[in-house]
Amino acid sequence: MALADITGSEITKALAECDRLGRESFLRTHGFKRARRYLLSHNGRLYDYKAIVGAAHGYLLNQSPLTAEALSDGADHAVALLRKLGFAVVDGPGAASEAYEELLSRIDKLKVNRAAGRPLLYQPITLLWAIGRARHGQERLLPWTTTMEAVRSLLEQHGMRRERPRPDYPVAALYHAGLWELRDHSAPVPTAHGDSALRRWFADNQPCGGLVESAYGVLRRSGDARVAAVDALLSTYFDGLNYAPLLHQVGLYDDEVADDYADDDAEPLSPLFTAAQYDRLCRIVEHREGENRGRRAPDASYNPFRSGTARRAVLLRSRGICENPHCTGQPADVTAKGAPILEVDHVVDLARGGRDHPSWMVALCPNCHAIKTRGRSREELRAVLLEVAQERHTQWTELEEG
Ligand SMILES: [Zn+2]
Repeated sequence: MALADITGSEITKALAECDRLGRESFLRTHGFKRARRYLLSHNGRLYDYKAIVGAAHGYLLNQSPLTAEALSDGADHAVALLRKLGFAVVDGPGAASEAYEELLSRIDKLKVNRAAGRPLLYQPITLLWAIGRARHGQERLLPWTTTMEAVRSLLEQHGMRRERPRPDYPVAALYHAGLWELRDHSAPVPTAHGDSALRRWFADNQPCGGLVESAYGVLRRSGDARVAAVDALLSTYFDGLNYAPLLHQVGLYDDEVADDYADDDAEPLSPLFTAAQYDRLCRIVEHREGENRGRRAPDASYNPFRSGTARRAVLLRSRGICENPHCTGQPADVTAKGAPILEVDHVVDLARGGRDHPSWMVALCPNCHAIKTRGRSREELRAVLLEVAQERHTQWTELEEG
């Protein structure tokens, strides 16, 4: 394999071949599937980047095209090559879901260190800080001194009593877990075990760093990925602890936490993917409801993280249309930007025993919302809405199981 020998000339020939044959027949000829994660963008058209690189290899002297198997581990190399040659590689339709799966699996695989039976909080505190930054679109990579000061301060305030506020431990561990990028260092990053060696390495190298690009991107855009990552960290590390002050401080404790941020060229979600999302969001809400075990009823106090997750699930379920079956207004009206004009509401207030859960919540147009709150027929409407919420919730979760 001679990937490094490929130049713009071979790529251009492969692009022309693809134009001549058409996408499907080009893919069949070379034995590739449609690319999901990345696409090569050229003269306003999109191409399957790996198949193009594979075919381009065949235009080298005395070489033949590369198969999908030969390139199976070479995705990063193929992308790097195309970018080096000046071609634009853009996110494909599956970019968000693949980055999502990868992020969650890496968080899952983090080694949980314990002291006196309790998980240590270095890693989750550092990650939550970075998730908050990604969500708010703050710079991904920061100089080491900036990272060190920010993380140290959070560890001092929110770490376990026995933990020393050492930011180099979590950053090295997250680096080795494939979640953190470290730049500008000459020597390899030591493991998180060596104590003074680790401290010295960071002091000597002063690496610029932050979340890896794919994780940052999906945490920035996808509310679903964001709340799933936060939920995984809370469930593993913060059982029985009050995490509210920490989430508040890192900018993840408000009821817009699960919202997506506009991604202009994102494809619309397929119904089944949305049902899977709905189900995942409901489970996150249920985790947070199950806190404070020992109480008989779910915790009724307001939790913006839980509430924001539930709200997002209800908006997905509504598909942008007022959920009142007798809506006489403009149930599918949108804002100037094309977003639904819907308000998500608890059918029964939390204070009156309602649940902060999608099966007890509805998305309403402003008119129906006003009727439900202060209309003459509000009591009848509430009964209807509760039934609608519970029916739709059951349908959606069954859609996912089926
Ligand atoms: Zn309505």
